[in-house]
Amino acid sequence: MLCYCVSLLEHFVFTIFIVAVGHVWHKEGLDGILRILINLLKTLPGFEYIIQQVLSSEVKSFTKQMKGSEGEGRPVKVKLPEKGIPRDQLLTEMEKLKGEQKPKKGKLFAYIFTKDDETFRLQQKAYDLFTEKTGMNPEHDQLIRLFYEAFMHENALNPLMFPNLRRFENEIISMTSEMMHGDHDVVGSLTSGGTESILMAMKVYRDRARKLWPRIKHPQMVAPITIHPAHEKAAHYFGFEIIHVPVGNDFIPDVDDYERAITPNTIALLASAPQYCHGIVDPIEEISDIAIKKGLPLHVDSCFGGFMLPWVEKLGYPVPKYDFRLPGVTSISADVHKYGYSSKGASVILYRNSELRKYQIFAYSRWPGGLFGSPSMAGSRPGGLIASAWVALMSLGVSGYMEMAKKLMDTTNKLKDGINRIESLHILGKPHMTSFAIGSHDPDVDIMVVGDVMERGGWRVERQLSPESLHCTILPSHIAVVEELLQALKTAVMEVKSQKGQVRSGSSAMYGMVAKIPEKTIIDDFIVEFFNEVYKM
Ligand SMILES: *Cc1c(COP(=O)(O)O)cnc(C)c1O
Repeated sequence: MLCYCVSLLEHFVFTIFIVAVGHVWHKEGLDGILRILINLLKTLPGFEYIIQQVLSSEVKSFTKQMKGSEGEGRPVKVKLPEKGIPRDQLLTEMEKLKGEQKPKKGKLFAYIFTKDDETFRLQQKAYDLFTEKTGMNPEHDQLIRLFYEAFMHENALNPLMFPNLRRFENEIISMTSEMMHGDHDVVGSLTSGGTESILMAMKVYRDRARKLWPRIKHPQMVAPITIHPAHEKAAHYFGFEIIHVPVGNDFIPDVDDYERAITPNTIALLASAPQYCHGIVDPIEEISDIAIKKGLPLHVDSCFGGFMLPWVEKLGYPVPKYDFRLPGVTSISADVHKYGYSSKGASVILYRNSELRKYQIFAYSRWPGGLFGSPSMAGSRPGGLIASAWVALMSLGVSGYMEMAKKLMDTTNKLKDGINRIESLHILGKPHMTSFAIGSHDPDVDIMVVGDVMERGGWRVERQLSPESLHCTILPSHIAVVEELLQALKTAVMEVKSQKGQVRSGSSAMYGMVAKIPEKTIIDDFIVEFFNEVYKM
């Protein structure tokens, strides 16, 4: 009986199959039948591996041919130069690379939209005012601008069209990977900023989980509560949930709490080096062990610290391990447009191997406009940003970054010491690099009101919640104002203390209200309304 049922079922399935094939044949002809056959074959064990091998050898011979025809044979592995490359040499190289770029004027029909060729001409401008404000070396800033302008109309949308942009990008990835102790397998992409880097890593882990663990219908990731909101944005866009682990009085999550937050639905682990709020590096060494034990990938958000922590460590300060030296770390985001001192719009996302990066790349082959592929969120990718990120790294080199890190750490230490000496104020936890948060332990000194007073004096210190504090990221422009800043804080504290119970104004008042409302979705709605209003004409 059972046997009969099975054979009936088989017969039934077979009939359906024949009907389906007939249908497809009628609708799509031979192509449709081939599609069905390939999909059937794909279900056979081992077949996908064979397809992968054939594909990869085809792609290799194709790219070899393409690169060969451009006469490009430069090695890809590039280390950040020990000493920055001299400016004149870089400018000569820029002229050469610009001229080398294919195709020539009037022969290109996509990618570059520019009104007139005049914009290609380099302009010398007065940069002094700007650089005086930012505290950056004026020559560095001018170099960034010159490279930006030289490549600002070029487009990295097609990696074969502008080989110099591809070279810049590969070299930036390579140099950053070296800083993060990556080996030869580490690959990455240049993106428009920390958020895009994070979005890409989160998409990789979601898509990887869909493939490896199709049973998971409600994917989760685990992160300390201090993780940057860009990860929440990714969760919102890509449909997963972040489980938050609280932090202790030292602003570090308890590792056991962290491990307990992992469920059968967990698809990736997250941590920061350092987190933005208090400048503290998460216990990534321990989280890496958990990742290995549980067989989960681990993303380290080093957007803030990626271009600062390596130098802080080299200067001899204690920095917990956070990069590819830890075997559990599978990806790292690091912003070139923060302490890499490039222009805004540049960040690096690194993966331990290309198997992971594959999940980042979008491909679409059915467009009448041709085969379409794109490595990241953006379609057109501005060449100027890639070129200026490259020249920032090349011109500073290890010695340039170390020199800046030393100055900024000295400034940070002077400020932290000075603030800890101000009665009522203290630094939250033990920050690892060039930022910190200021709190008050004096019931008569409302730290948010201190923020208000500072703001009236022209100082823009960011307000933070739970616990309430003021955030400071130390930038080159602060090197010259240490005493002035400490004095302003002292005066502000005295003013608040002398008029006990001063009421909060502006954003401080709003933060006070927010802290009291337990239902945060109301506040989320409020924020949405705020943006709606702000962008009205
Ligand atoms: C700045 C920052 C980000 C987001 O980067 P954007 O460049 O602003 O998109 C993410 N994480 C941390 C820790 C950051 O400091």
